Amino acid sequence: LLVSVVFTLKFNQRFQWHEFLGSFGTIGVAYGGSALIAALLFLTVQQSGISVLLGALPVVAMLLTTVHYFMRQQEAVDAARRGRVEAAEREAEQTAKHLEALRESEQRFHSAFTHASIGMALVSFEGRILQGNTALSSLLGEVEASTLVNRPFAEFLLDDDEPLLRSELQRILAKESETFSIEVRCRHRSGSEIWVGLHCAFFSEPGSTAPCLILQVQDINARRQAESQLNQIAFHDSLTGLPNRRRFHTLLEQALQSANADGSRHFGLMFFDFDRFKLINDSMGHSAGDEFLVLVSRRLQQNVRPGDVVARLGGDEFAVLVNRLEHEHVATHLADRLQAVLREPMHIAGVSVTTSASIGITFSSMGYERPEDMLRDADIAMYRAKSAGKARYAVFDQNLHAQLTSRVRMEGDLRQTLAEGALHVAYQPVFNIHTNQLQGFEALARWTHPTLGEVSPGVFIPIAEESGLIIDLTDIILNRACMQLASWQERHPLLRDLKIQVNLSGNDLAHPDLAQRVERAVRDSGIQPARLTLELTENILMQRVDGAMHSLEALRRLGVGLAIDDFGTGYSSLAYLSSLPIDSLKIDRSFVKGMREGSKENEIVRAIVSLGGTLGKVVVAEGIETMSQFMLLRKLGCEQGQGYHLSRPMTTADVDKLLDYIVMENELGADRFASSGMLPFVRH
Ligand code: C2E
Ligand code: CA
Ligand code: CA
Repeated sequence: LLVSVVFTLKFNQRFQWHEFLGSFGTIGVAYGGSALIAALLFLTVQQSGISVLLGALPVVAMLLTTVHYFMRQQEAVDAARRGRVEAAEREAEQTAKHLEALRESEQRFHSAFTHASIGMALVSFEGRILQGNTALSSLLGEVEASTLVNRPFAEFLLDDDEPLLRSELQRILAKESETFSIEVRCRHRSGSEIWVGLHCAFFSEPGSTAPCLILQVQDINARRQAESQLNQIAFHDSLTGLPNRRRFHTLLEQALQSANADGSRHFGLMFFDFDRFKLINDSMGHSAGDEFLVLVSRRLQQNVRPGDVVARLGGDEFAVLVNRLEHEHVATHLADRLQAVLREPMHIAGVSVTTSASIGITFSSMGYERPEDMLRDADIAMYRAKSAGKARYAVFDQNLHAQLTSRVRMEGDLRQTLAEGALHVAYQPVFNIHTNQLQGFEALARWTHPTLGEVSPGVFIPIAEESGLIIDLTDIILNRACMQLASWQERHPLLRDLKIQVNLSGNDLAHPDLAQRVERAVRDSGIQPARLTLELTENILMQRVDGAMHSLEALRRLGVGLAIDDFGTGYSSLAYLSSLPIDSLKIDRSFVKGMREGSKENEIVRAIVSLGGTLGKVVVAEGIETMSQFMLLRKLGCEQGQGYHLSRPMTTADVDKLLDYIVMENELGADRFASSGMLPFVRH
């Protein structure tokens, strides 16, 4: 019983009677039995003598054996108990060792964390700094690492870069990724910005149950600066420091992408062309031109809104990307403001110079896919502004787009028609109003488009002029008309005095080989140069007269006649009129149209006729549509005329018939037309 109590005390257990009886009940019975037997033996030996002991010996031996086995069993139980105790002790020891190792590792981590040369921070999932190291605090210009604690990391980022960090954190939270690396700009305490490489990963701190994020923040300012220097060289204009065409293209591309991704983000594009740049460059020299560009670029930059981008695309072409456009008005107001700022005089090379710009505007809402398309349309709008009188802006709209696509198509079709020689010529007879004699024909270009049918020269001539096709077109009409005249003269020698009139455009007049081209046409056809009259509109002539004097003189020497077309619609200086080698004036049909007894137009025609008389020029009226116009012109003494009343433009076959008819009448000697006051007009 005593031994059992010692054991239970040692193992800090409660003493249980039934357990005690279960373990030692048998041994108690054995001891009780032995004592009883010993007492019996003692009494028996006293009564019967020592020999009884012999019979009792085996019983005693059995008893001792039982006790012996019992003790052995008890020892085994104790040994098992001791083993369990030892195992528990070993385990406790190992746990302690493990804890020690952990503490060491934690210490190592913290020392690595604190003394790392790279900025580090443990950040909660909401982005709050739990702990930062010295490198980070000095990177950000904070006094010490502890001041970082509990502040949101995003607080140190530039506003523009914040969303990037937030979206990356979001991805980690959503378990879409486990780490991320980004490059963002941080704000130093001094206010300057620093580029940092940010690497973020999951982190579970030893000993702490809640995982967090570990941020590694590396100063990459030096690398970024080197990059931006390279960038500056590759993507910026060296003169003005503005983004160059390549850079602008990229920016435009990005802007288009984000505008197309988010339907509510619109932006505008302005294309500038300075109306005076060429003049300044040519007359004041290139360095003055450079100075001009720098001044202009500065004015643009100072007057756009903060998010807008000004770029120099080359030469005097500038572009502005008008970001975050709530309404198109914002861009047009900006254009107005820039116009006003640009108009202010600037001092270049000691001279006060003023300038203005033609601005073309287009909007991302037109649904562009490619930056070049957007630039092209802004450019087109700029040309529209330029041709509308410069110093203004024009907006590219659907209308212009539709016009343009059909124009581009028309240009291609016209090119093909010219290459195939499929252009026709119509001939409109010109008569002497007093003698009723046929004087000649005006050659007019005719184009039958494969799908559109007849296209008016009012449409295709401007296209030919803008695309440079006009030179070929003029050559075709010129050569055909001369050949045709030669063939008519050959057929009817009586009509050898017939003349042909061919229209020239401004580009022809500016063409250096004009005289040679005309000479070739005259020579190839074999007509006399005096039979050919070239018509130039008053506007073209007056605009280009200085540069064209040389050509005009050469044509004059060649012996061909020159006429001013649409006379009265332009602004002719009388000084020019008398000095120019011009033979005839063609009164514009708008005046003829308004001719009535006593009307203003009537007086204008009268004045032109008298002017022609004074200057010794033949006066021709065009667009005669009625008998009364014809009679009034005759009364005013206008010498020649053409118009629907007399004859519409005709095909060669119709001209052939007309000529046959005239010759026949002539041969008959009858002058019936003159007596009737009627000319042999032909209606289709
Ligand atoms: P334009 O040189 O003034 O030619 C006369 C135009 O008046 C022609 O129009 C002719 O068909 C039209 N016309 C003739 N009589 C009358 C009339 O009684 N009433 C009215 N309302 N119109 C009349 P078209 O053929 O349509 O030519 C228009 C313009 O296109 C021409 O005006 C000319 O400037 C230009 N053009 C035509 N052919 C050529 C060409 O071969 N070369 C160049 N450079 N221009 C051409
Ligand atoms: Ca004409
Ligand atoms: Ca005309």
